[in-house]
Amino acid sequence: MKRLSILIVAIVMAVMPLSAQKNPDLRYLPKQVPQRAEMILPQVKGYNIYKADFHVHTFYSDGDVSAKGRVTEAYYEGLDIIAITDHVEYRPYEQKMLRATQGYHKVLPTAKNYNITHKAADANGILADLNVPYEEAKKPAERLGMLAVPGVEITRHPDKVGHYNALFIKDANTIYDPDPAQSIRNAKKQGALIMHNHPGWKRKTVDMNEFHQQVYGEGLIDGVEIVNGGSFGSKLIKRCLDNKLFMAAATDAHSTTHYIYDGRGYFRTCTFVLAKELSLKAVKEALVKDRTLAYAYDNVIGSEELVREFFNNSVKMNVAYTSSKGEKTIVFTNMTSIPMRLRRAAKGEGALLNPFQSISFKVAKDKDLTFTVLNLWTADEEHPKGMNLKVAYKAKDLK
Ligand SMILES: [Zn+2]
Ligand SMILES: [Zn+2]
Repeated sequence: MKRLSILIVAIVMAVMPLSAQKNPDLRYLPKQVPQRAEMILPQVKGYNIYKADFHVHTFYSDGDVSAKGRVTEAYYEGLDIIAITDHVEYRPYEQKMLRATQGYHKVLPTAKNYNITHKAADANGILADLNVPYEEAKKPAERLGMLAVPGVEITRHPDKVGHYNALFIKDANTIYDPDPAQSIRNAKKQGALIMHNHPGWKRKTVDMNEFHQQVYGEGLIDGVEIVNGGSFGSKLIKRCLDNKLFMAAATDAHSTTHYIYDGRGYFRTCTFVLAKELSLKAVKEALVKDRTLAYAYDNVIGSEELVREFFNNSVKMNVAYTSSKGEKTIVFTNMTSIPMRLRRAAKGEGALLNPFQSISFKVAKDKDLTFTVLNLWTADEEHPKGMNLKVAYKAKDLK
């Protein structure tokens, strides 16, 4: 009996929070354990889908949070991969920190490494260690089972040059050059992949300017951020398909992300990476082979091949009933966290197929079932004609 009571005490001690053991006066309210949002997605082409944000900022450039904070936030918002991509040439918080710590840094009172956008590196050059944000993110990411990808954002005039993320870099400190094309080349020499960020930002078009033509022409660009936060450059789908570039969606978060996404009932803007495993090698390979889908606000964007398989593996179809006149009742079940906005071709009727729910359609004898999935995008023609995924089931296939 004594043994049993010792055992019970041991079990109670084991399941009690450590702090409660220390302080019996504290009570613990329910729901104290933080929950990670899980976006349930199908396999596509036999690959797992990993959720990645390849573009966020920290207070090491002009973001409001730490690198470790970015990792924690991304984890609880359901991401698997994060690249901290602080600006190489624009780091206003550094100036503030230099001011705040000037007593300790008598040697640096004249440091000019604050906002050198549009300017050549001067005699002071870039004094900061630009590898720190990645180093600060790497371990916390590993502990959460996430993958941190080393990266930076090359940041020049938004219209004349634009912004470029260098991902999978080896050393952030040897990328800068006054010539932006040379900066990109320096990153490529390290084996980096280059993503052209927000090509329409602070411009009147997403079309290419002279600089873009030069760097795309040189083969320096590997992917395009077709969605930045909530702004979607649909014309860029064609550019990616024509030039074999990966399509990405990223938050470009500077502040915290909660109030923009999950606070409003959405998963966070991210890139779906189709990879065998969660490793730098496998994720990089997926980007090189353009095995990505862009996700933002319930929209999924990519090549028709990948988007079609994504839909087919997300939505299960079965015939629930066939009437004596041969009319079929077809049930669609959505097995994923992404709602599907369907519009049936025949009557133009719309139907929202919510996550983990079913809806049914009636199909007359020998009639095909054809509809458009309005939130799956495969081309860039005028909305809504021809832009979205078309799905057609032949009567003979409706089983
Ligand atoms: Zn940018
Ligand atoms: Zn940015």
